[in-house]
Amino acid sequence: MPITRFWGRDAEALFDALPAGTKYYPEGGAWAVQMAERPLRDLADTVGECIVTDSNDNDDRMTVAIVVLDHPDLARPVTIREDLGIGFPLDTTEWIWTQGNSSCDCNRSRAIIRAGIDFHELGCGDTIELTKMLVYREDVPWRVKDGPARAHPNRKSSP
Ligand SMILES: [Zn+2]
Repeated sequence: MPITRFWGRDAEALFDALPAGTKYYPEGGAWAVQMAERPLRDLADTVGECIVTDSNDNDDRMTVAIVVLDHPDLARPVTIREDLGIGFPLDTTEWIWTQGNSSCDCNRSRAIIRAGIDFHELGCGDTIELTKMLVYREDVPWRVKDGPARAHPNRKSSP
């Protein structure tokens, strides 16, 4: 079953409009659903503003990165877990942490602070060392929507 995700202003309304039995998983600000992109996009058009995207592949597991970061100002190396999304590509995840946004001190320092570690925000640079990285996929407890699809007040009337 294809995995698609949606988010945006009227995401709650779109969720309400999903048929009963739809498998879904809330991902922070977005919803992942096991539904083809086209019908979900059509449904989104009826409820308002939502962004609908195809998953990168149909893997229904969460892509997880575990990274160990070290810096002279840290008492000990810090282990951080990042959930990137259902079916998020493994190679892209690795790239993000080694060459992409999360390869820079600015974002690495913020990730350390977000993890609850007493640290300071750094400017761009490469002083925070990535000493270990594990990227894998993990099963998540997919839920099944119950109850009938209900129309949302925002729903436009049919033309
Ligand atoms: Zn930077």
